[in-house]
Formats: sequence, C-alpha cells, structure tokens
Amino acid sequence: MEFILSGANPAFANSIRRAAMREAPVMAIDEVEFKTNESAMYDEVLAHRLALTPLRTPLKGYVLPSECSCRDGRCSKCSVSLTLKCEGPATATSGDLKSTDEEVTPVSSSVPIIKLEKGQRLELTAIARLGLGREHAKWQPGIVAYKYIPIFKVDGKACDGCGACVKACPQGIISLVKEKPKISDPVQCILCKACSEACPPKAITIGSDATKFVFRIESTGALPPEQILFKAMATLEDKCKEFGKLVKKLKG
Ligand SMILES: [Zn+2]
Repeated sequence: MEFILSGANPAFANSIRRAAMREAPVMAIDEVEFKTNESAMYDEVLAHRLALTPLRTPLKGYVLPSECSCRDGRCSKCSVSLTLKCEGPATATSGDLKSTDEEVTPVSSSVPIIKLEKGQRLELTAIARLGLGREHAKWQPGIVAYKYIPIFKVDGKACDGCGACVKACPQGIISLVKEKPKISDPVQCILCKACSEACPPKAITIGSDATKFVFRIESTGALPPEQILFKAMATLEDKCKEFGKLVKKLKG
C-alpha cells in the first residue's frame, strides 16, 4: 500500500513507521514440539524457519498471552496449534502445516522448510501466538518505509534546455516543456539527484518537503496493509493518552 502523508513532520512520520512495524500484533509460531525429526537439520533450525513463516492473523478473537487469563499462553484464546507430518522423499513446506483454526494458516503454502530424503520422517506440533515486532522479527507484520516528497527547482536563467537531465533521470519522469525541464510525477522520484549532477550549468536543485511523505507498507500477508496502519495509529493514540495521564499526575 502506498499513500501520501501531508501536513506532518519527520518525528510524526517516524512514529507511525515504528508503531506499524513494532506494535501491530500478528500470529507467529512461538513453540515447537518435535515428535520425530529424522531430517539432516537440527530441531532449533527447523523451529526458527517455522517461526518466520508468515501466518494469516484474524482481526478479532485472539489476545496477547501477556493479557490472557490462562497465564501459560496455551489456551484457545491466546494460542493456535498446528501440526506437520511428512515423510521423504519430499520437501516439507508451509502447506503441510495443518492448523486447528482455519483463519490461522500460512500466508503461502509453498515456503520450503526442509528437504527429506527417502525414509526420513518429520512430525511436529507447533504453537502459534500473537506477538509484537519489537520482541522478535517473526511478529513484524511487514516493512514500513517513507521518503520525502522532492522539491524540484530549475534556475530559469541558467538552464539552457540541453535535456541532459531528461536522459540522466533513471525514473524517466523529467521532460522538457518549452525547453525547460519539468518533473511529471514527484512520487516516483527517488531523490538520487542524477538530474542535478548531469546538468552542465548546474541549474537544477533537488530539495525535500519535510511536511509531506510518501509511505509504503509492504505486508508479509499476516494482516492487510491498511490494518497494520490502523493498529499503529490506535497504539500511538493509546500511548499519547497514557502519557497525558502521567503528565497530569505530575502537575497534581
Ligand atoms: Zn490463554
């Protein structure tokens, strides 16, 4: 998902980015009980691979183990169990994971976990729980990044309309209008400054607008990107309220 945030500042943009990557809870495998592992790989390595397999996360229904009344993170409110049984010759993939909740399943069924030779068996039970990206990358819902909107300035007197900037732009977004360069889509600009470097009379300057940002949210598939954003905003709001309360206490 891509969107433009305007009327903001770098601190606010960065708060959204951090909250989205660190505070939107998603499901991930957190514990694995191996019944049989005759593969060439250690249990720990397989458990790590399983943990990093993105799982679809239902919006409602599960709570963080730390907020659950069961305390050990094993009840149906805070955990889901998935089983895997595979015998070689075969490649065990995420698609072999059978979940007890049809809403909590691997995002992709083709993530390879381990190749099994003839006769090698793998059987395990995995427990998935909700968690936060700030604790472990397996609970990170995706990658969130932003860039400034560029300010493209041309010194009309210095520019001789040679078109070197048009050729230099790797994005192909500069064109000559009445012999003067114009940028067609600022969102596509990657701020590489190739245009200003290529300009013989140095007539182009590229600046950035620190109140306007192009955001990009790339989800692992665990949550839709808009939900990652909504959850980030809700967390930020809660944190601000909490901070406000604490400040009031100080005053009192
Ligand atoms: Zn529980």
